[in-house]
Amino acid sequence: MGQSLLDDMRTLSEMHVALISPASSTQANPASTLLMSTLPANAARILSESRGPIAELVVGSDMLVARDVKLDSGTDDLHTLLLRSFEEVVAPFSRAQFSLAWITALGVMLFGIGSVFLARKVTTPLRSLVSATQELTKGDYSKPMEYTARKDEIGGLATAFDQMRVSIGAQQSEIRRLAYWDHLTGLPNRARFREAAREAIERAGTPRKKASDQLSIVVLDLDRFKHVNDALGYTFGDSVLQAVAKRLALHEIGPNDLLARLGGNEFALLLNHTSSASAYKFAQGVASSFEEPLVFADQHIDLSAGIGIASWPEHAADADTLLGLAEVAMYAAKSKATGVQIYQSSLDSSSTQSLSLLTELRHAVEHNELRLFLQPKIELNLSAATSVEALVRWQHPTRGLVPPVEFIPFAEQTGFVRQLTLWIFNEAARVWTELQKVDQACQIAVNLSTRDLMDSALPGNLQAILTKHNVPASGFCLEITESAIMDDPQRAEATLNRLNECGFKLSIDDFGTGYSSLAYLKRLPVDQLKIDKSFVMAMEKVNGDAMIVRSTIDLAHNLSLTVVAEGVENAVVYNLLKKLGCDQAQGYLISKPMPAADYTAWRERWNHQLDTNRRESGLSIPIPLY
Ligand code: C2E
Ligand code: CA
Ligand code: CA
Repeated sequence: MGQSLLDDMRTLSEMHVALISPASSTQANPASTLLMSTLPANAARILSESRGPIAELVVGSDMLVARDVKLDSGTDDLHTLLLRSFEEVVAPFSRAQFSLAWITALGVMLFGIGSVFLARKVTTPLRSLVSATQELTKGDYSKPMEYTARKDEIGGLATAFDQMRVSIGAQQSEIRRLAYWDHLTGLPNRARFREAAREAIERAGTPRKKASDQLSIVVLDLDRFKHVNDALGYTFGDSVLQAVAKRLALHEIGPNDLLARLGGNEFALLLNHTSSASAYKFAQGVASSFEEPLVFADQHIDLSAGIGIASWPEHAADADTLLGLAEVAMYAAKSKATGVQIYQSSLDSSSTQSLSLLTELRHAVEHNELRLFLQPKIELNLSAATSVEALVRWQHPTRGLVPPVEFIPFAEQTGFVRQLTLWIFNEAARVWTELQKVDQACQIAVNLSTRDLMDSALPGNLQAILTKHNVPASGFCLEITESAIMDDPQRAEATLNRLNECGFKLSIDDFGTGYSSLAYLKRLPVDQLKIDKSFVMAMEKVNGDAMIVRSTIDLAHNLSLTVVAEGVENAVVYNLLKKLGCDQAQGYLISKPMPAADYTAWRERWNHQLDTNRRESGLSIPIPLY
């Protein structure tokens, strides 16, 4: 083995090869025979000086990794040391490391670009959609969604969101329209009107004296509209309201002014820069425009309205109060039939008085403050007390005994009279059972009001009371005023028919005051006419009255109706009525209304006096009695 072979090996294997053969291993010369391929200069020296197995060899800045291989040469000590430069070994890896670094850097860069691309393509649109939906939750439906033009999933999502936005927006505006507009007339409603009035007051700012800085609310309520509805039907009533809205819209108002329908047959106008005096002139114009009747196909409808006015800052500081006061004025206009009424504080006190009266009345029913009084009716041909009229009184804790004129008309207006009627009827049924002990033929007359007649539940309610007390309907006569019937003849007729079917006797009260014709009344299932006291009280003096009474009696008899004269205050009238063939008489001459508990004693006295008169003077009437 020679140097050239080693060098060949080096070229082939890229390894240094050293053959170590310690030919004479003496202490003095440890360096053994060393044959090796070209190595860095000092390597041979290091090798020859080393002891023991060699794993690595540092030569200058290079490090050689060594592997000691024992050669099978027969001699034990011949070693081959295979050496390889660490740098040479690692060199391909270092190169790979470098390209790996490049690849990594490129990867990071590509990732960055990818992220930006992805953000552009997906995240940003999503974020914009999210912020757009946040706008939606705030109630802003006006901004269209972006990205709807895209053809991908984002585009699909954006389109779906946009459709949702449009449809919710449409629903919202429909809800707002319903909340703020009256769909029948197309006018703003009460809520919108209140808002507009609030805004107008805000705009006007601090109150000033100048008329142009004031604003007024005009409230208008159609008279007797309910009758139009009831008599001609709700569809017709609706067309009338639409026509009224159109007619009101003809009146010129300012750009910020508002015409609204507050509800039912109530309309309102908000007039900016208008004092109460100018609003009054305006309202008079409106009132006179109502003088022209509305014409529908073949119907002429005469309309009138009550109009109330309240002005800011003259009457109230805020919109709601102002509207309330205009309504108070409107009600006053209706009740006084003044047409147009500007609000005054005196009107208000009467309306608060009314309110407290209603509370008191409720209290009266609940705490038994009402009293049933009875006034006898005399059967003229027998001079016998055969029936009574129930008349209510209010035993007020501080005001004493309150007559019905002071609370019945008010109870009528508010509808509370229906409860009163039921209380009275219940009481009358109780009294009837009591009276049965002394007079089995006795009949009690109970007054019904207009409101009762319009109440379709009335017959059922009365029937329930009859059942409760186990009394027959024929024991009762129901008195209905002529004007109550004429208020709404169709409805009245229906109720009267039902009451008649129940078995009640029916009487027309205050006859002669309601302009009804007997021909019309003939159609109704009535049994009795009660001639109004205004014709009776002075009939012995006033010729005309006597004529009216006489002809009414004749006519009624021709129609098979019995006749009662009320307001009989003296014996002359009593006798006159008897002569004219009147069936019954009622009045102060016979007795004033008395507490129900006193009636039996009174009746006994009446009968006793009648007997005495007959015996002593041949008079068939117990008059004068007291
Ligand atoms: P009305 O039904 O016409 O009752 C007759 C009224 O005339 C009663 O007055 C009675 O006291 C009065 N009167 C009777 N005889 C004479 C007389 O000879 N001369 C004069 N000047 N008056 C006489 P009252 O009790 O004050 O009732 C007044 C009105 O109040 C009644 O008129 C009726 O419309 C109403 N009213 C009374 N009680 C009731 C009731 O229980 N229910 C209803 N709905 N209304 C009632
Ligand atoms: Ca009556
Ligand atoms: Ca009467």
